[in-house]
Amino acid sequence: MVQKKNKKVYILAGNWKMNPGTFAEAKKLFAGIDKQTSKASRVTTIIAPPYLYIARLKGKHVSLASQDMFYEEKGSFTGKISAAMLLDAGTKYVIIGHSESRKLGDTNQSVNKKVHAALKTELTPIVCIGEEIRNDDGHHLEFLRAQVAESLWGVSKKQMEKVIIAYEPVWAIGGAIAMSPHDVHEMYLFIQKVLRETWKGISASTVPVLYGGAVDPTNAAAIVNEGQVDGLLVGRQSLVVESFASIISILNEL
Ligand code: PEP
Repeated sequence: MVQKKNKKVYILAGNWKMNPGTFAEAKKLFAGIDKQTSKASRVTTIIAPPYLYIARLKGKHVSLASQDMFYEEKGSFTGKISAAMLLDAGTKYVIIGHSESRKLGDTNQSVNKKVHAALKTELTPIVCIGEEIRNDDGHHLEFLRAQVAESLWGVSKKQMEKVIIAYEPVWAIGGAIAMSPHDVHEMYLFIQKVLRETWKGISASTVPVLYGGAVDPTNAAAIVNEGQVDGLLVGRQSLVVESFASIISILNEL
C-alpha cells in the first residue's frame, strides 16, 4: 500500500468485463471516471476495459489494466495477447485469474505462468482468488491457501512487492449482497497470514489486498473501513459513472 502524508492511498480497480458495447460509450465513461479521479489524490484508480479499447483510452489520472493476458511472449497463439503488447498499449496492471476466466479454463497453474510473465514485463498483476462456497468446516480457507500458494508459486519476496491480491468470494460476485465487513476483515487477516507464512518476513504493507464482490456506494465505506482492506475491485458499478465516481470520493474521504 502507498502512503501519502501518513494517509493511506487506496486502490480502486474497475473491471468492465465485456462492456460497454461501443467505444463511444467507453470513452465517455472513462472520461467521467478520469475527471473524478483528478479530485481524489488518495485513490489510485485503475480501469480494466476490453482489450480493443485499451490503446484508445487515454486518461490523465486513471491507470489502465487488462482483464487477462497470455503467458507466452509471442508466436502462434491465435487470439492471445502478450504482456509486452499490453505494456506497449499503455497498460500498467493486469487482472489475472478472475473467477470468470477460471470458469473458462484458467487454473492456478496457468495463472502462475501469467503472473511470472507479467512480472517479467513489469506489469503489475492483480491476482484474483476466492472461494465458490463457504461452510462451517472451514474448507474454503484451505482452498484459498492453495490458490495463493499455487497461483504465486516461485514468485520471490522482492517480486511480491509488485503483486496485488484481489480477494473475491465467487458467491458474492455479480450478486445482490456483499460479504459483511466483519468477514472481509477476517479474510484479509487470513490472507495476510498465509502471505507471511509463505514469504517469511513479508509485512502487511507489502502486498495490497483488495476486496471484490457486490461493492456499491452504499457498502464501500464500511467494507474498506471495517474490513481494513487496501482497496476494492468493482464490476457492475464501474460501468455507472455516478456510482463509480461516488466510490472514488468515498475512498478519498476515509
Ligand atoms: C467482479 O466481477 O470482479 C466483481 C467484483 O463484480 P461485481 O462488483 O459486479 O460483483
